[in-house]
Amino acid sequence: MARQIYLDGTIVPEHEAHISVFDHGLLYGDGVFEGIRAYGGRVFRLREHLVRLYAGAKSIMLDIGMPMEQMARAVVDTLRANDRRDGYVRLVVTRGVGDLGLDPRKCKGPTVFIIADDIALYPREVYEEGMSVITVTTCRVNAAALDPAIKSLNYLNNILARTEVNRAGAHEGILLNSQGFVTEATGDNVFIVKNGRLLTPPEHSGLLVGVTRNAVMELARRAGIEVVEPAVTKHMLYTADECFLTGTAAEVVAVRDIDGRRISEEIPGPMTRMLRAAFHELTMVEGELIFPEEAEGAAVAAVCPGARAGVGAA
Ligand code: PMP
Repeated sequence: MARQIYLDGTIVPEHEAHISVFDHGLLYGDGVFEGIRAYGGRVFRLREHLVRLYAGAKSIMLDIGMPMEQMARAVVDTLRANDRRDGYVRLVVTRGVGDLGLDPRKCKGPTVFIIADDIALYPREVYEEGMSVITVTTCRVNAAALDPAIKSLNYLNNILARTEVNRAGAHEGILLNSQGFVTEATGDNVFIVKNGRLLTPPEHSGLLVGVTRNAVMELARRAGIEVVEPAVTKHMLYTADECFLTGTAAEVVAVRDIDGRRISEEIPGPMTRMLRAAFHELTMVEGELIFPEEAEGAAVAAVCPGARAGVGAA
């Protein structure tokens, strides 16, 4: 079945979902986006993703042109149109169609599209054995130039880092800021464990505040673990007891080695394993239902067996 795409208020088959070559999202990377997951019929932390999207849009003075509630509905409708209970949602808002000048005033209004598809996670052995990670020479873009907190359509900084990772034959790369402090991986946040505490670089080091990062910090605190956000150096990475990455696509994934230095004997380490399991549990119970009528049906069926199939009807 062709994928069904939400495009500017309507859901169309993918072969009808066309974007103009004059769209400033394409011409200049002018826009914002989100990557969202659905697990077992629920959208994980949809509101948090939308708050980040709308904040990014506000920061670049892009009027999305629809309230957040309507956007939430559009995400759920796209999943429903694709009969999807699990998968990845890519939500994109561009500045819209203009002319060849970069002035955003040339654009009449935003383009909004939403794709629901499968997600290519790392192979299972990566989760079991951990990732091979390098620190890349590409610096994370300076927040004074373009704040990494904005999930903008311009990912060249991350892509340049990614090409270094590919050339090194590693799984992921960690970017430092211009002062040499750890920021984040190309598409994930970074955590380390040291002496029972959980550490992750602060927002002001120049990073995207991940929805998964927030969830993992919450879960750790709930489990009584102290969570801190200090400036993180390469030395702290190399001497960590455990290291893992978090992201909507990757979830929680252990790091085996950084710049060829093995982090510890046991990979994934105990805290990584605990947090990964807790995160999985959370995704199953939290979030907006994509097919609420099924849940209602299930509740009725539980109370009155046969009601769902119409057996109980007179
Ligand atoms: N950093 C960057 C640069 C990212 O692109 C992502 C993925 N959105 C993340 C971190 C992780 O954020 P999240 O947990 O919200 O997916």
